[in-house]
Amino acid sequence: MLEPSTSVQYVKGIGPRLADVLGAKGIYTVDDLLHYLPFRYEDRVNPRGISELRAGEMATVIAEVRTSGLFRTRRMPIFQMTAGQGRSRLKCTWFNGTYLRDRFKPGQMVALYGKVEEDRYGGELQLMQPQFEILGDPTDEDGGDQKAASSLEVGRIVPIYESAGQGRLTPRWFRRIINIALENLPPELPDPVPAVVRSRMNLIAPREALWRVHWPDPGESFQDLQASRTPAHIRLIFEELFFLELGLELKRREQKAQVGIAFSLDNRVREAIKKILPFHPTAAQKRVLKEIAQDMEKPFPMRRLLQGDVGSGKTIVAFEAAIIAMENGYQVALMAPTEILAQQHYFSARRILENAGYRVVLLTGSLEEDRKREIRRHIAQGNAQLVIGTHALIEQKVEFARLGLVIVDEQHRFGVMQRLKLMKKSADGETVGSGTNHVGTAALGRAAEQSSAASSGEPDVLVMTATPIPRTLALTLYGDLDVSVLDEMPPGRTPIVTRRVSDDRADEVWQFVGKQVAAGHQAYVVYPVIEENEESELKAAIKMYKELGKRVFPDLQVGLLHGRLSADEKEDVMRRFQRGELDILVSTTVIEVGVDVANATVMVVEHAERFGLAQLHQLRGRIGRGAAKSYCILMTGAKVSEDGERRLDAMVRTTDGFQIAELDLELRGPGEFFGTRQAGMPSFQVANLIRDRQLLEAAKREAAAVLAGPNEEVSKEEIDRALRHMRTHWQKTYGLVEVG
Ligand code: ADP
Ligand code: MG
Repeated sequence: MLEPSTSVQYVKGIGPRLADVLGAKGIYTVDDLLHYLPFRYEDRVNPRGISELRAGEMATVIAEVRTSGLFRTRRMPIFQMTAGQGRSRLKCTWFNGTYLRDRFKPGQMVALYGKVEEDRYGGELQLMQPQFEILGDPTDEDGGDQKAASSLEVGRIVPIYESAGQGRLTPRWFRRIINIALENLPPELPDPVPAVVRSRMNLIAPREALWRVHWPDPGESFQDLQASRTPAHIRLIFEELFFLELGLELKRREQKAQVGIAFSLDNRVREAIKKILPFHPTAAQKRVLKEIAQDMEKPFPMRRLLQGDVGSGKTIVAFEAAIIAMENGYQVALMAPTEILAQQHYFSARRILENAGYRVVLLTGSLEEDRKREIRRHIAQGNAQLVIGTHALIEQKVEFARLGLVIVDEQHRFGVMQRLKLMKKSADGETVGSGTNHVGTAALGRAAEQSSAASSGEPDVLVMTATPIPRTLALTLYGDLDVSVLDEMPPGRTPIVTRRVSDDRADEVWQFVGKQVAAGHQAYVVYPVIEENEESELKAAIKMYKELGKRVFPDLQVGLLHGRLSADEKEDVMRRFQRGELDILVSTTVIEVGVDVANATVMVVEHAERFGLAQLHQLRGRIGRGAAKSYCILMTGAKVSEDGERRLDAMVRTTDGFQIAELDLELRGPGEFFGTRQAGMPSFQVANLIRDRQLLEAAKREAAAVLAGPNEEVSKEEIDRALRHMRTHWQKTYGLVEVG
């Protein structure tokens, strides 16, 4: 008998050596093995007759090997095999097929899967580069088990697995081994999903799901199988998502169980907010402020994410929240990812808040030591009400007299897992956030730590992000936070015109840029240096800058910004551009960081096909910030990939960040969506966030319903069992012990 938690090495036919190979695939236990799902299925119940094949289709054919041989052409070796069924024959061709030389023997039965194509000469049909499996190969290691083995290969719908260990573990091997594991499962597998959820979601039992996902019933819909939509698939996928969401939901509940600050929101506070507003808030701003204010009034700490595209007006919302805290006698920390952004916030805060009588300070690294010390003292004594700085600065030992609200303006997106790890780290008192992109979230932990030492309760935390995140990702990545969305732009914006231009028309583009500058505006020209340490790419950007400065625009002021400049040099260039001393800023993607130069009306992106969608969108967000009409010009090289075309199309078609994010997710997949695999995305065994959106929503809903118990729907025992299961699962998948 094999328990699901048994190590795979004890499955008959595996052993320690192969267990290592499986470990590299993330398969450690019998349970992992059973969740190694086929990536497709072959219908070998009714294998196709050769004579029924049609050109252009994908087909599975079972036939007998007749002849085979290797042909050398001038360009490459080609391997051909002819398979037959009675009198029909089918030619199979593999390019560079030298490795197949000794593979086939006349008389063997083979299953072939591939594309049916017409032969270039006679119009005869053939299979091109088919995947194949030799059925009943007498030289195979399990030759003795011949009968049993071949019953796994033919006469049924057969699962096809990705092979492992550089091809050593074939689909066929997995089929046999997984079958052994299935046969040795205990007759009853307890179901960790509470009964009420099972029945609402129509879930089949776990043991049955595992059997049927590997060995579908003959009557199963083939289409559902390939789409992972059979009851067996749905059961397994839902289960995985349910336990993820259960952990996140628990996390949220725990946060809410902590003692926070119940700010009061009376008429005086409302009036104070109204007084500072320089314009009528949009409906979205009103809605979001209400969500934030309701959180702040509650006696447990707020953990809220404010999502809003660039320019959607997050700053004023943040200031409104700050007023609630300040009017209640608390201090507020506002952290920005860079010094320039901190300064930008400081200028707006002075304009809007200081004029209304609030005491605002800026704490940045470039201040004199004395000045810094003085500011720290103001903060410690509670004189400073709003402290604006970079993440790094505020995280260092700044003591607040009465910190009530932390606002994190986050440049990068962080995963739940990262956030949890960082919070844990900072709670352990280790140094955190040495890498610039960690600081935002580390601050959460830091803030929590500070206040618990100091006073009345955990401060509220508001995280702001300018990068729209598709809802599915928000549910997982930020599943531990409540989410508010600013999905409306303030009125009076002239939409940005986006055009795509081939780079052999560069001269026209430069002429246009010249005209805009002559009209008093400024322009960005961005060059793709994706990897700042790629010497050659950087050289190309610098060459471009010289070319523009010397040849194209000899009379204009052209500046250069790239990642190799020191922080001071960067600041200096940015400041000159901000002050209008530079007409054109040639830059690598460092410009992405949320700089606000309202007078810039042109964004030229060279080799736009090389940029990701999110990046293009961020770049475009740098313009269109003033009243004048703005232009985004996407220049492309000669060769654009299919995905590249779709990205450029999307950019021309819409400026809606959420639409762009959805498409980006679709094109890149969740792992790549963040540009890096380390963004803290949970990895899934069987679920796929793009395909399984609806199941994810359902899982979240059901997780919340379960944790609302015990009640007449769900018993305490069931909840405990589910939580126990969830903890082992989280521990295993994310290495996090402290959840729950
Ligand atoms: P972001 O969400 O990118 O931080 P900001 O808060 O910087 O956006 O707002 C962008 C610009 O829009 C600012 O100049 C701001 O003053 C302006 N703005 C924000 N809300 C409104 C509004 N309701 N009506 C008019 N202008 C607004
Ligand atoms: Mg902003």
